Amino acid sequence: MRTALIVGNWKMNKTASEAAAFARELSQRLPGTSTGVEFVIAPPFTALESVHRVLSPGSPIQLGAQDMFWEDHGAYTGEVSAPMLKDLGCRYVILGHSERRTLFGEQSDSIQKKIRAALKHGLRPILCIGESLAQRDNGSTDDVLTQQLRESLSGFTGDAIAGVTVAYEPIWAIGTGKSATTEQAVAAHRTIRRALAATASAAIASGTRILYGGSVTPQNIESLLSSDQIDGALIGGACLHVESFVTIAAVVSAARSIGV
Ligand code: PEP
Repeated sequence: MRTALIVGNWKMNKTASEAAAFARELSQRLPGTSTGVEFVIAPPFTALESVHRVLSPGSPIQLGAQDMFWEDHGAYTGEVSAPMLKDLGCRYVILGHSERRTLFGEQSDSIQKKIRAALKHGLRPILCIGESLAQRDNGSTDDVLTQQLRESLSGFTGDAIAGVTVAYEPIWAIGTGKSATTEQAVAAHRTIRRALAATASAAIASGTRILYGGSVTPQNIESLLSSDQIDGALIGGACLHVESFVTIAAVVSAARSIGV
């Protein structure tokens, strides 16, 4: 079974000191380490250092970033590179989030360059893909997911693709309180796995973790993870509160320890 992954995407929330206080409390309250689950928090860039200081080397919580640029250094005002993130203790980086695509015009060619740069520097990319409500309503969800996946990973070797985690995030479910049903998520995950098999191989498709993201809560996480297609979650709002993060972590740890 693939190791479950729970990622908290804090977006543009929490100052460096608020983030450090949150990470300190979360470290104390997370359930005992479970071999079947990994936890990641992705604070804003400005809070990476303060959170890194709080997380001890053996902490069950790993650090992630919400984006990065593909060059290592140079005249790219406002950007942050993979070596900079590595130096601050990041292990993961979220790439291609729908807010980056819709608000900042990010497209598959730049996402592809970012994934390549992340892998080159030993960061684990979490590639976000997902359809809009209009695309779901007109029946093009499978095509959209397949196209986004292919474009973002085109030209990659199988070994490179094996280093990528995919997050299925229907745009209509992000921050709306209207999660996809478990059935909708499972169908999308199957589509993504088929596309991975076509792009890389069946073995890589079956080894790749695919997370669900979009209005995940302590109430719906158990149902979502009841399918072996769903390997974890990328969570925004519900990960901004220690209480709900801890509850989600407890549900996932329990589910994984009984082999769900
Ligand atoms: C996200 O930011 O990726 C996300 C899924 O947000 P939320 O959980 O708030 O819908």
